[in-house]
Amino acid sequence: MTNDSPSIFASSKIIAHQERIDAYLKGKNIYPITVELDLTQCCTRSCHSCPYSVARAQGKTLQLPFLEKLFAILGPNTPGLVLSGGEATFAPHFPETVKLAREKGFKEIAVISNGTRLDITEVQNALLEFVTSVRISIYDWQEGDSESFIATLRRIERLRKRIEQEGSSLEIGAAMLTRTDWISRLKPVGLQVLQAGVDWLYFHPFCVDWETYRPVQANQSGVLEAIEDLKKVAPAGSNIQVPVERYLLRPLYFENLHGSHFLIQVGADGINYAGPECKYHPEYALLDLNEYLEQDFLWQEKRLCRLREINSDNYRVIGTKHRPPVFSDFIERLIQAKKWSVENTPAIVHTNFLYPDIV
Ligand code: SF4
Repeated sequence: MTNDSPSIFASSKIIAHQERIDAYLKGKNIYPITVELDLTQCCTRSCHSCPYSVARAQGKTLQLPFLEKLFAILGPNTPGLVLSGGEATFAPHFPETVKLAREKGFKEIAVISNGTRLDITEVQNALLEFVTSVRISIYDWQEGDSESFIATLRRIERLRKRIEQEGSSLEIGAAMLTRTDWISRLKPVGLQVLQAGVDWLYFHPFCVDWETYRPVQANQSGVLEAIEDLKKVAPAGSNIQVPVERYLLRPLYFENLHGSHFLIQVGADGINYAGPECKYHPEYALLDLNEYLEQDFLWQEKRLCRLREINSDNYRVIGTKHRPPVFSDFIERLIQAKKWSVENTPAIVHTNFLYPDIV
């Protein structure tokens, strides 16, 4: 992969939708580029370090009438949809949900999955027919080739086979969390995952201390170098992706959480939160969509007011460097520079992206 190859993530990904940035900077109301939904809090795994373990205990799932209403508002105006969880494919109405999303107008649909249900025919059928990409989180690889890790690889292989047999456009990605302690396993595991038949392999930082006031990334020293080593030995054409900006030590700065106008998060409890990294925290609840879900829900003064209150000094989950604060920093740079054109943005700027509607 060269530096010009399409990236999955950079802070500048939102400039693929320059017209929304221009409108936002002029103070206009905008629809987001992407909506990320926790379809269900229920999960087929029980990871020791799950950031959402408390929320999962509630076991909430978004129901079809709610989704019908939300998709009718966003589908024609918001091109990207991410279904997450919990385990999105575990929702009994997962197939109906992705079909509905297509019918309502979403252009790119991404599903984040732990891979445990990839062999289920109804899940496979829905993925193959309606979904743009499934991103499989790879677990249980740090200590050795565990049974569950190998089982996930086999399920990826079988899904790949069906994609090829049936000519589906579904793309398979895999995501691996990183920390310094796991570096020695990164290369062998990365090679196994690539060999299973994924279209791309994405590395991102493991975060810790979710139960505390300020979660942060685990130590990541040496990780970028280890990924470079993997690239050197990976089969030709392997698509290995790293959101480099999330690994940089440069602090983020923003005067309000601009990024949450471009990417919105809805929890399985029907509440719109400020971002995926703070979902289910009452202090970051922007609007309860069970109470108000009309065409103008995004621009309710209560919601906008809360976003204006959040800045880089008081956003206590900023240390995880997730997408809303990273996009907020990017927008803040545009504002500070008082210039809105791509050429004048001082951040790392890529212009070639995979899945431009999934930010
Ligand atoms: S798969 Fe994800 S949501 Fe499920 S328990 Fe593990 S970390 Fe939590």
